[in-house]
Amino acid sequence: MTTKNRNSYKCPVCGHNLDSEIWVTGDKDPQPGDISICYYCASANEFTENLNLKNITVHDFKLLDDATKSTILSILREILSKPL
Ligand SMILES: [Zn+2]
Repeated sequence: MTTKNRNSYKCPVCGHNLDSEIWVTGDKDPQPGDISICYYCASANEFTENLNLKNITVHDFKLLDDATKSTILSILREILSKPL
């Protein structure tokens, strides 16, 4: 897991610039299939072939490997447990 500062991507759910997204997979420049989590709304998003971000559906989530699913859930728990 890597945290990167990027202003060039917007969350497809809440529209915030992803200046503090948490990258679940991938540790360099984003690649298609990499997953990030929006720190603002806790949505899990995947980079498409065109490097746009799309929200992961429940169906998409179920297709991920167990390690990735576990990482996403632990990040979501941490984000959602923080006070507003
Ligand atoms: Zn968001």
